[in-house]
Parts: sequence; structure tokens; C-alpha cells
Amino acid sequence: MQEPEVGIVKDILEKLTRVPRVTGIEHKVSPILRGIMESYSDAFKVDAWGNSESIVNPGGKPVVMLAAHIDQIGIIVREITKDGFVKFQAVGWDPKVLYGMRVKLLAEKPVRGIISVLPPHIFHTYKELAEKKFEVRDLAIDIGVESKEEAEKLGVKPGIYGIPDYEPISLNDSYFTSPGLDDAAGVTTVLYAMRKVWELRNKIEAEVHFIATIQEEIGLRGAEMTAYRIKPEMAVAVDVTFAKQPLMPSEFTLKTGKGPAINKGPIYHWEVVELLERAAKEGDIPYQIEPDFKGYGTDTWAIQVARGGVKTGLLGLPLRNMHSPVEVINLKDVAWGGSLLAKFIEVL
Ligand SMILES: [Zn+2]
Repeated sequence: MQEPEVGIVKDILEKLTRVPRVTGIEHKVSPILRGIMESYSDAFKVDAWGNSESIVNPGGKPVVMLAAHIDQIGIIVREITKDGFVKFQAVGWDPKVLYGMRVKLLAEKPVRGIISVLPPHIFHTYKELAEKKFEVRDLAIDIGVESKEEAEKLGVKPGIYGIPDYEPISLNDSYFTSPGLDDAAGVTTVLYAMRKVWELRNKIEAEVHFIATIQEEIGLRGAEMTAYRIKPEMAVAVDVTFAKQPLMPSEFTLKTGKGPAINKGPIYHWEVVELLERAAKEGDIPYQIEPDFKGYGTDTWAIQVARGGVKTGLLGLPLRNMHSPVEVINLKDVAWGGSLLAKFIEVL
């Protein structure tokens, strides 16, 4: 079995998880990506919307695209109440998870806050509150001010984005937790693959585009833009997928630490699936299979239908606690995913 280079992967993941990457401000991450990508590719560029891209072996055939989305779920400020509480909108969040969460509002100088919770003591008296199902619109952020004017002085105003305010940390040896591992983990997989493909650049035939796509969380937009422009013959997207965990329904069977999942189903082209499986076997890389009949919800979908249709595949990284500030991944799965993508390019 291939020994996973957990250290390199962790290093990339730490760089990515320490920058805010809310959908809508991905262009701000481009300098970080440039720093990681430029020296392992023939060309690096950022397009008008902030999709970051590296190319290895330009002019080669076939043209292949390896992509993962750089955006993370976040929040956007909608209004400030007259006593200084911040109301917001959130996409992709369960209100139960937001309740009590620490947030960082991305004003010119970031402002820290917490999402208010009710003291449980009052629930005995106020049964309607004990039974209430909170919606995002019921929640508000406390930034430690007493008025709207004071909030505005800190630069907090409608349109400002926010992220969970949690440091990335390691859990034991191989596990790592942070907000936004969806899909910093996928981008790390692609970037680690890029380093390996760069080492192999004299031995490969394909022209390979490594992309950190934007705005996946609100509709796969970066994948749509880049697949149209690059016009690849084949593509593999990498995204997180549901891992087994307490309370998770039993149909979710993927385990962390057992390798990335090769998806099988209608939108995953048989040639790509076969090549990925061959690459895993030849490279002695552990992998799992994820059957998926619908295939929506990842960049694969947008790439598959780009132009006249692209042969696509998907690697899934098993993740616990998806769309929360405490997403958990196994670093070995990320490293194996990157090795698998590099081997895929090699066996093409
Ligand atoms: Zn994702």
C-alpha cells in the first residue's frame, strides 16, 4: 500500500483553511493559491471571476481538467438592528449548527462575534420557545456593541461576508478539523496531485489543468465557466462526501481512513471510472466505491454537460460533520486522493 505523505497535505490544508474563502470572495484567495501552485506548473492564471488555474504540459493530449471548489459556505450581513445586533443570511447551513457559533465578519478589519443563544432556564416558563424550530432569520450576531451606529463604525454593514471563527486543528495523528474543509480538502487533493504530476511532466502525454473553482456552493458556477473555456476531453472533480458517524443513517457507508471514493453512476463516464480504478490498482492506492444514481451537487455535474459533453468522474473524500464549523477529514484520504489523480494522469 502506498505510504501517504500526510505532512505535505496538512501543510497545504492549513494554508487554505486559514484564509476566508466564502462564496463571492474567492478572488482574495488567489495570491495564496498562486504561492502554492505557481512553482509546480508551466503557467498559472486567475480568470475574471477568480477561478485559479495551473497548467502542466501545455500542448499535450488529451486535455484533462482536475477541479475542486475553493469556496466555503459562509454568511452575509443583511441588516443591523438599532441596538447593534447583526441579522444575516446563510446558504447551506442548518440553523441548529449556527446557534452559538463564533463568527468573524470580514469588514476591512475583521470583527469577531457570536451567534446569540437563549438560556435554557427560560424554557420551563416559555414552552413556545423550548419547542421553537429556529430559522436563520431568527438568529442574530452579537459583536459587543450597543447601537447600529457603533456597529457601522466597526465597518459592519449590509453586504459584509462572515465565516465561522475556528482555528484549524489536528485530531490525533491523521485527522484534521476546520470549517470549510468542504472543499479545501478537495483543492488540497488537486494541488497535491499537481506536485506529483509536475515531477512526472516529462513522462506524461496529457495537457493537465488544475483548477480551484468558484461558487460551487451556490450552483457550480466556476466549474461551468472553466469547463466551457478549457474544453477538456476528460475531467475529474474532487469533493467531500458523507462519512459514517454516530446518528448518520446506515445507507452512508464510506469510512474515513480507507481511501477516496470513486463514484459510479450515470454522470460518471465509464472510461474515466475505469481509468481511476486502474490507477488505484496500479498505484496500490486504497479506494472505496460510492454508487450515486443522481449525480447532482458537485462540480462534476456542470463539467459533464459543458459544451458537447465532457467525460467526467468524481473522487469523494469521506468527511464527518459536513457544513459545520467542525468538519473532520482524514489526511491520508486526501494524500491518497492526490496520488490517485496523479496516477490517473500517468496511465492515460
Ligand atoms: Zn463541496
